[in-house]
Amino acid sequence: MSKMIYLDNAATTKTAPEVVEAMLPYFTEYYGNPSSLYGFASHNKDAISKARRQIADTIGAKDKEIYFTAGGSASDNWALKATAELLGETKGKHIITSRIEHHAIMHTCDYLAKKGFEITYIDVDENGVIKMDELKAAIRPDTILISVMFANNEIGTIQPIKQIGALAHENGILFHTDAVQAYCHVPINVDEYNIDMMSASGHKFYGSKGIGFLYIRTGVKIRSFVHGGAQERKRRAGTENVPCIIGMAKAAEIAHAHMAEWNEKEIAMRDHMIDRVLAEIPYSRLNGGRTNRLPNNVNFSFQFVEGESMLIMLDMKGICASSGSACASGSLDPSHVLLGIGLPHEIAHGSVRLTLSDETTMDDIDYTVDALKEIVAQLRSMSPLYEDFVKKQKK
Ligand SMILES: *Cc1c(COP(=O)(O)O)cnc(C)c1O
Repeated sequence: MSKMIYLDNAATTKTAPEVVEAMLPYFTEYYGNPSSLYGFASHNKDAISKARRQIADTIGAKDKEIYFTAGGSASDNWALKATAELLGETKGKHIITSRIEHHAIMHTCDYLAKKGFEITYIDVDENGVIKMDELKAAIRPDTILISVMFANNEIGTIQPIKQIGALAHENGILFHTDAVQAYCHVPINVDEYNIDMMSASGHKFYGSKGIGFLYIRTGVKIRSFVHGGAQERKRRAGTENVPCIIGMAKAAEIAHAHMAEWNEKEIAMRDHMIDRVLAEIPYSRLNGGRTNRLPNNVNFSFQFVEGESMLIMLDMKGICASSGSACASGSLDPSHVLLGIGLPHEIAHGSVRLTLSDETTMDDIDYTVDALKEIVAQLRSMSPLYEDFVKKQKK
């Protein structure tokens, strides 16, 4: 393959070689069903228990509070729908979330709204941080759940999770967070952050696709997600995805061992990219603040260019990037996140997201900034809007 620079790690990451290595024996050698009673299968049962404990330890949880799922979307759906079912008939039908959630939350809320639940979407400021006063004011006696993402998948904004959780608990409300972009990228402790339920996904931190978990605090009695066998303490039936569970635990172990080192390296590259782009490309802006931001996320808007055109031209230079969330591509509507931070449609349309990994190098960053400069200039040279704008500036 010719030169490729992969800067779409918020969409998915490469499965780490050590993770693949840890998974392989569970396809070939230890293929038994963990529920079977013979010794051969008990190896798998023990391996799953160990994986569960490893993951629980990374967030200060108990083993039995970790439930393996098929990924972030599955965990988000479970947390929201099951809370609605648990409390909808007794406490109320009001749910609070933010304006900039992932579609796994947004579309689940749409579904619940059709089922008679009332959803309040809290606005964010220009950096994507939730407005705490609005959140406080939205709480009602029939509010059953607050669900706010830990870190945004498009603009990398990290929310004041501790304060949101505290506010929920002061009012006797359950708090769920979609931590898919944050888990294994920044430190999380469920007690310190007042989290009752938390979604995570293996393929966002060098594990494999199709595996994730939902943390459910002891005492939160939401219903089973999949009915059937007694797996996952009768809350999520189906034979365990043993290789992927083992792989995810390995990925979590590696990420936590290297978190400080990776963060330092990624922040240096991220900030270098931001500095260069803002200094060298006119009419560009950074979306999301410079602080409270994921170490590996940058998101820019360039006036007078189309994000989709930029992606195609970046691809021709071997650079993989995204114009928003992968789920939103194919639609002509600009990203709800970029509109949520107050960007007008035409600016939101000219946006690219670049997300780094531990394998990204400073050379990759410089190559990408050089490519962006060239592409933006080229696209603007073909834009009648830009031509008009330049003429007006000269007057
Ligand atoms: C990727 C992502 C999801 C979905 O996770 P899957 O494992 O792909 O289902 C949910 N929320 C956020 C914030 C994400 O980035």
